[in-house]
Amino acid sequence: MNYKISQAAASLSPSLTLAIDAAAKKMKAEGQDVVGFGAGEPDFDTPDHIKMAAIKALAEGFTKYTPSSGIPELRQAIVDKFKRENGLTYKPSQTIVSCGGKHSCYNAIMATCQPGDEVIIPAPYWLSYPEMVKMAGATPVILQTSDATEFKVTAAQLRAAITPNTRLFVLNSPSNPTGSVYTPDEVKALGDVCIEKGVLIMSDEIYEHLLYDGAKVRSVATFSQAHFDHTIIVHGFAKAWSMTGWRLGFLAAPEPIAKAIDAVQSHSTSNPTSFAQRGAVAALNGPQEHLARWLAEFDKRRRYAHQKLNSIPGISCVNAKGAFYLFPNISKTGLKSRDFCARLLEAEKVAAVPGIAFGADDYIRLSYATSMANIEKGLDRIDKFARSLVK
Ligand SMILES: *Cc1c(COP(=O)(O)O)cnc(C)c1O
Repeated sequence: MNYKISQAAASLSPSLTLAIDAAAKKMKAEGQDVVGFGAGEPDFDTPDHIKMAAIKALAEGFTKYTPSSGIPELRQAIVDKFKRENGLTYKPSQTIVSCGGKHSCYNAIMATCQPGDEVIIPAPYWLSYPEMVKMAGATPVILQTSDATEFKVTAAQLRAAITPNTRLFVLNSPSNPTGSVYTPDEVKALGDVCIEKGVLIMSDEIYEHLLYDGAKVRSVATFSQAHFDHTIIVHGFAKAWSMTGWRLGFLAAPEPIAKAIDAVQSHSTSNPTSFAQRGAVAALNGPQEHLARWLAEFDKRRRYAHQKLNSIPGISCVNAKGAFYLFPNISKTGLKSRDFCARLLEAEKVAAVPGIAFGADDYIRLSYATSMANIEKGLDRIDKFARSLVK
């Protein structure tokens, strides 16, 4: 039998971050002393009051279909969040609850992009964006950046990349994989270009709450009515509430786009898990004390790792101002990222994600969503490995 795979599916590469994480977990399960820097999720437990809300929902029998785009209480909680934290006024009908922030991105791209369209994605990028664009039959257009500009694109760079076919610009600040954060002025300038050229913005704000060194974020949707009208905000519960396994995300969009996404979702996944949505209501409306604790811990690790990395021969690292990743430059070791990570895992049993997965082959991604003890041990091993390369 000749299994003919669809062009859209055949054009995809499987997620390298998930693959590395799985490989490290497997080695660990076999009893090997592996240090994993691959995690794309906080190493903290979901706060108890969120779990309790979901347990209560289950006990009450809240186990049936809900409206496809989410339960009214959750959509209202999302509206309230945007009002309270961002000063943005959405109607519940402009919000969609999906099965993860990733699914929200997918829905947004599916509802707006088609063959012939171009989607501008700054690199280093979250690895799923280009693949989703390809699934929609559209063309990813990658804008290269480097650590010299803290991995940020300028308005001029964006303007030069826009063609009559450009449909969407993907903005992710704070960024996965670099942890870099655009200033409000930089965000506004990028938004201005998109408005001038009639390009939509998909603003992935899932790391909004994870900021360090006094960094401030401001959503591109907040600068004017025109900015608001050009923006789809993608968000989710995975990072700031440590709910990766719950599979819940949300977005807010101009009404016609939200309506289209509602239709897409109603014919693909239907509603996100009913009782998980009750937990998400508690996440948004409940106490947020856990966040300060988590941020203090992340910050301590970030400072240590940043300073240690810069003491390692052949490695240099700009500091991150958000999320929970560092993205050191390994080019002076003479290795490209895939080789570097494969040899590092083999020689020192340290798992890191090659930058090539994010469109940046001179870097590796290290997640500090792991214990301080692991970070110290893992970086000592990276130090030893780098010294074996750089004489
Ligand atoms: C983690 C992440 C998401 C969403 O993850 P989900 O688990 O699907 O909620 C979206 N965008 C970026 C950049 C992320 O790192």
